[in-house]
Amino acid sequence: MFIGHIPAGYITTKAVFQILPRGYTEKIHLKYALFWGMLGSIFPDLDMFYFYFIDNSRHLHHGYWTHLPFYYLCIFFLLFSISFAFRKHSLKIYLTVFSMNIFIHLFLDTIAGKIRWLYPFSSHDFVFFNVPARHHWWVWNFVFHWTFLFEIILTAIALFLIIRDIRRSNKTVIMTRADIC
Ligand SMILES: [Zn+2]
Repeated sequence: MFIGHIPAGYITTKAVFQILPRGYTEKIHLKYALFWGMLGSIFPDLDMFYFYFIDNSRHLHHGYWTHLPFYYLCIFFLLFSISFAFRKHSLKIYLTVFSMNIFIHLFLDTIAGKIRWLYPFSSHDFVFFNVPARHHWWVWNFVFHWTFLFEIILTAIALFLIIRDIRRSNKTVIMTRADIC
């Protein structure tokens, strides 16, 4: 997946904020939750720096630990355990949206990429739809494949939510000004 991860992170984090009871969210800033959520949504792909600049594209980046669910399970188990020692409520929420978005990233990568969901017990690459290599530049294989529609839909939903929120906040400003006048 290329352009769909950040929109997916935005949609998921907003949805979590809607679902959580008000008592949970009132002490938490949405902008910080969105930051952690969207960072989680692209975090596994930060391995592209390693892929291009250190590994010289020798291995598929989905084979690095950053794309293996097992390591995230271990890391988050540890982090959640530590977070319970602190009574910081916001810490748990930010950690939840961050970790949730990492797993959504891996799920979305499974649509047309390959993810080893059962590693270290199995090295089987799970993929929903195999994308044939038809173009010289590998990126075009994914962009011109029908599965790219998922990315377009995610981007469209995120844009819709952003525009709706901007309109709502503009309305609130106008109403507040009208109250003052
Ligand atoms: Zn990825």
